Amino acid sequence: MPSCFDEINVTEPSLKPVLEKVSRGERLSRNDGLALEHSDDLHAICGLADCVRKRMHGSRVGYIVNVHVDYTNICSSGCRFCAFGRSDKDDDSYLLNSNDITVRIPEGVDEIHIVGGINPDLKLGFFTGLLSDLRDKFPDAVLKTFSAVEIQGLARRENLSISEVLKSLKDAGLGMIPGGGAEILDPEIRSEICPDKATADEYIDVHRKAHELGIPSNTTMLYGHIEAPEHRIDHLLRLRDLQDETNGIIAHIPLPYLHGANELSERAHPQSGILDLKVMAISRLLLDNVPHIKSYWRALGIRMAQVALRAGADDMDGTIGQEEIMHEAGSDAPRSLGPDHLEQIIKDAGLEPYRRDALHRPIEEVVK
Ligand code: SF4
Repeated sequence: MPSCFDEINVTEPSLKPVLEKVSRGERLSRNDGLALEHSDDLHAICGLADCVRKRMHGSRVGYIVNVHVDYTNICSSGCRFCAFGRSDKDDDSYLLNSNDITVRIPEGVDEIHIVGGINPDLKLGFFTGLLSDLRDKFPDAVLKTFSAVEIQGLARRENLSISEVLKSLKDAGLGMIPGGGAEILDPEIRSEICPDKATADEYIDVHRKAHELGIPSNTTMLYGHIEAPEHRIDHLLRLRDLQDETNGIIAHIPLPYLHGANELSERAHPQSGILDLKVMAISRLLLDNVPHIKSYWRALGIRMAQVALRAGADDMDGTIGQEEIMHEAGSDAPRSLGPDHLEQIIKDAGLEPYRRDALHRPIEEVVK
C-alpha cells in the first residue's frame, strides 16, 4: 500500500533528501531546515508535514475549553512588537486582583491561561495568592500561568533563584507554563525587538528548571518581523535540544508577528500567509520530539489556522474568551469561539476533533 509520503511530488532537488529522511523517520539537520526555508515548493513542504502529523496523530485534532485572562498590562519591558504593555502612569493601565480574575472565569473550563506584563510592583505573594485562590475555586482546571519571562522577572525582583520561585508557584497550584516570551531565541534579534526582556538563555533556563521540577511547558516562536530564515531554524533547534534533555515540552506554537500599533511595524516583513504555512510545517518537521504543534487561531485568524491543520498542526488551541494581547496587536479574529464552532472548523478540514485537557489528554480519559 503506498504511504502518504509516496504521494508527495517534490519538484526541487534540494528537497529530495529531506523527503527521504522524513519518510524514514530520521532527524532533520540544520541544513535540511534551511533547505526547507529556502524552497518555494510550499505544496511539498506542507504535504510532508501533513504526513508527519498523520503518522503521529492519525486524523485527530485537539481543542480545549479554556479561558485566557491577561492580569496586568503594566510592563517595564517595552518590547518593540508589543501593543499591549503600558506604563503605570498611562490612563488605560490596569492590574486585576484575584477577585477581578475569578469573576472572568466561566465554570467548566479545563484550563485557565493567565499571563501579563512584567509589572515591577508585583511580589511573589501576589502570584502564589492568585494561584491558591484559583485552585480552591476551580479545582478541576489546569492552571497554565505566567510565562518564562514573567517568572524570570519575578525571581530577579525577589532575589530568588528560578527554582525557588517555581517551587513556590507549584506548591500554590501552578500546573504548567505557557510558551510566551520566546520571540526569537537569538541575542542580536532580541537586542532589536525586545532589548530589556529576559535573554534567550534565560527563557530556555526557566523552561529547563520547570521541567526538572515536573512542571511541563509549551513553547512559542514569534516570526515574520525582522528575523531571517536562519534565526527561525536555530530557534527551533534550540527547542529541540532542550526537549532532548528534559522532555517537558507539550506543544509548540508558531506565532505570526501582527502589524498593529507597535514600533516594529515599519521595519517588519510584509505579512505572508505563505510564511505562516511554511513556519507551521517546518516546526512540525524539525521538532520531531515535541508531541504537538498548535495552530493558534487567535493569532493566525480562523481561516489560516484551519488550513494550517493540513500543514503539520494537530491542535487548534481553545475557546479562549478574554484574551487582550493579540487583539491589541491587531488580530481581527473573534475573542472567543464555542466548542461546536471549533469542532466544525476541524471537521471541515477533513479531520476529527477531540476535546482535550492542558496536557493534551482526551478529556474522556482524564480522571479528575
Ligand atoms: S510583549 Fe510582554 S514583556 Fe514585552 S512589552 Fe508586551 S507585555 Fe511587556
